[in-house]
Amino acid sequence: MLGHSHATSGALAWSAAAAALPLTLMTYPAMQSGSIAAVDLVMGTFLTAGAALLPDADHPKGTISHVLGPVSHYACRLINMISGGHRHGTHSLLFVALVTYGTWAGEHWIGRNFTIALCFFLLALAIKALNLAPSGDGIKSWGTVVILATAGTFAIDHWISDKPAWLPFCVGLGALAHLIGDCLTDRGCRLLWPLKVRTRFPIIDRTGNKVETLIVVPLFALATLALLWYTITTHQP
Ligand SMILES: [Zn+2]
Repeated sequence: MLGHSHATSGALAWSAAAAALPLTLMTYPAMQSGSIAAVDLVMGTFLTAGAALLPDADHPKGTISHVLGPVSHYACRLINMISGGHRHGTHSLLFVALVTYGTWAGEHWIGRNFTIALCFFLLALAIKALNLAPSGDGIKSWGTVVILATAGTFAIDHWISDKPAWLPFCVGLGALAHLIGDCLTDRGCRLLWPLKVRTRFPIIDRTGNKVETLIVVPLFALATLALLWYTITTHQP
């Protein structure tokens, strides 16, 4: 699957979860009750879109590897080495659990600085995947990503709480949406890594790139907007 398909599937998963799931589940493990504010819903949409790229941090030659220039490239090479190669450790349910609890732990033990840094990174991933910056791995590309992500982070800094209870769920859900997408391709994923079982329901093939760009991505984006609209107008006072 392409980066923009992953990003829009993450956004769609978030808006569908917000429309259908109880808040206690979306704020796991803090488990708050009540309703989620409209501004949190919108921030969560962009952040889940970015989180849906996280599993490909094991791919030193992927688009995401160059999102923040050499810094992210070397980080990806390291993750590739540790996780055993592309579509191994980071494409497992264990990884989903790890990023969910990692986000929760970072919020609680480090606090606001962690929250803001994570938002910057997730926004950068979303900007890169949604092709809002020039393509390639040069400074023109990652420089634009850094500028746009910084602007977005300033906006988020204005609205977000120190420890948003929904952020761990948002990160985990994004990663899970990525795994589901990859399971629909021929290569599948090793969801139960380190076990060697491969899960795959190959309905997307390589020739599907045009279908993804022209049909799947616009459809996911429209469905996301519709679900957000529904949730904000029916659940909010
Ligand atoms: Zn992947």
